[in-house]
Amino acid sequence: MDYGSEDVLQLSGLQHFAFCKRQWALIHLEDSWFENGLTAAGRIFHQRAHDAQQRERRGELLILRGVPIFSARLGLSGQCDVVEFRLDPQGINLAGEGGLWRPYPVEYKRGSPLSQRSDEMQLCAQAICLEEMLCCPIPEGAIFYGQPRRRTPISFSEPLRQRVVELVTEMHKLRRQGHTPRIKPRPTCRSCSLKELCLPALEKRPKASTYLRRAWEE
Ligand code: SF4
Repeated sequence: MDYGSEDVLQLSGLQHFAFCKRQWALIHLEDSWFENGLTAAGRIFHQRAHDAQQRERRGELLILRGVPIFSARLGLSGQCDVVEFRLDPQGINLAGEGGLWRPYPVEYKRGSPLSQRSDEMQLCAQAICLEEMLCCPIPEGAIFYGQPRRRTPISFSEPLRQRVVELVTEMHKLRRQGHTPRIKPRPTCRSCSLKELCLPALEKRPKASTYLRRAWEE
């Protein structure tokens, strides 16, 4: 079953959802985004990857940045940081380029691969979108981590694809229900950008706007 345009969710939310379903609901259902130093740095790092929406040719490598993507099957839309195309007899035609090209998505992350599993799912969802748009298989992509500066290849295995579909199905279900899961504190809460809005001591948490107003008044 394909999702209609009114049901489309942000692909970037998949990473939040894999990290913590409550975090995803606060950001994507309740709109409680609180930017800390980490998220600000991540945003700037990402903007660099998207810089100028460039198309760059390096010999047998074509690099596109900030590529809009969509999947009706997943009901997701978003953007790839970078899609590299390599000349490959198994590839596809590209407008304005001779030969056949195989797409290879690359996601840029500011930090280290601590939450690699959720990063992998985000990248795999991007690959599924590209497969649907370009009608070609994409068996692998890569995540570039800023610390240390290293590229990690990710194979889009069947279990990984299945997990993406399961999580996305659950995201759509929660969205339809408008349900924000209750707090379940865990060690990863320490690195959560929403902990000050969410944790039990702040169960009667203020809205982000109230929090920011108080901080301003202080
Ligand atoms: S503080 Fe913990 S429970 Fe709350 S949104 Fe973050 S990770 Fe989830």
